[in-house]
Amino acid sequence: MDMQSSKTVKKPLRIMKFGGTSVGDATRIRKVVEIIRDAARESEVVVVVSAMSGVTNRLIEAAKQSEAGNRDEVEAIFEELRDRHNAVVSTLIHSVGMRSRINRELRLVFEEGERLCEGTTLLQELTVRAHDSISSLGERLSAPLVAAALAESRVSSEAIEATQVVVTDTCHGSADPLMGPTRQCCESRLRPILRRGVVPVVTGFIGATEEGVLTTLGRGGSDYSATILGAALDADEVIIWTDVDGLMTADPRLVPGATTITEISYREAAELAHFGAKVLHPKT
Ligand code: ADP
Ligand code: ASP
Ligand code: MG
Repeated sequence: MDMQSSKTVKKPLRIMKFGGTSVGDATRIRKVVEIIRDAARESEVVVVVSAMSGVTNRLIEAAKQSEAGNRDEVEAIFEELRDRHNAVVSTLIHSVGMRSRINRELRLVFEEGERLCEGTTLLQELTVRAHDSISSLGERLSAPLVAAALAESRVSSEAIEATQVVVTDTCHGSADPLMGPTRQCCESRLRPILRRGVVPVVTGFIGATEEGVLTTLGRGGSDYSATILGAALDADEVIIWTDVDGLMTADPRLVPGATTITEISYREAAELAHFGAKVLHPKT
């Protein structure tokens, strides 16, 4: 046997982040699955997902309504979010076993959300911890959903809660990663999954303190999650999939003549983001 050819060539590692629009409905998620399936043939892939578009806003609204004691409004929001996620399950997940598993996973997250809102109503106070926990539910719903959709297309995948891999400071609402512990967690939690040829689907936006308390990285923070994981795992590439073709000279929704910037330094990109280009979280 030719020893040379039996050596396995190390595949490049790619972090692929899909934003809210990209996972916004069943049709989009089907497209996302195709992109990941193709990429997983030639590279190791870590997927980072945002909540389905609009979901985080609705969750924050539910948190505020809970503080105000408006139980009916809160219930209506959860009902609406349940319907949206269930619609994706019924369109994309056909195998009976997988469907009952994903339904159970989603139900547990919704029940946790309802308990957090009920606690907030009883306290009549929306604590920073509760705000983070409630607003992070969207990613905790979308990650298992995308993982299930991948599995349905015979791509081995596993949903991972970023609380297990992104270790942050205690700054709720705009936490920063502690890269040493984050590296260690990524090595112990993600690397073995990658070695097995499985695609981890990680919740964007979320981390946890060293004590294990859930934190969030700030609105639009899933972009940042992707580069944190990219740095922690020494990835070859971080790819941010979204609804525009890259960083543009201006927001194309406001400036119709905006064009894609072909090359930009990290510093310039950070500056653009800092001054309001929503396409990228400023810390990314
Ligand atoms: P995602 O949900 O994928 O994270 P976002 O809505 O957060 O997507 O960011 C993408 C949006 O950012 C685009 O639809 C665009 O309207 C807006 N945007 C603002 N400024 C820029 C810019 N300079 N370049 C590209 N897109 C921009
Ligand atoms: N879902 C979060 C938000 O809406 C994070 C993200 O989309 O990047 O802010
Ligand atoms: Mg975004």
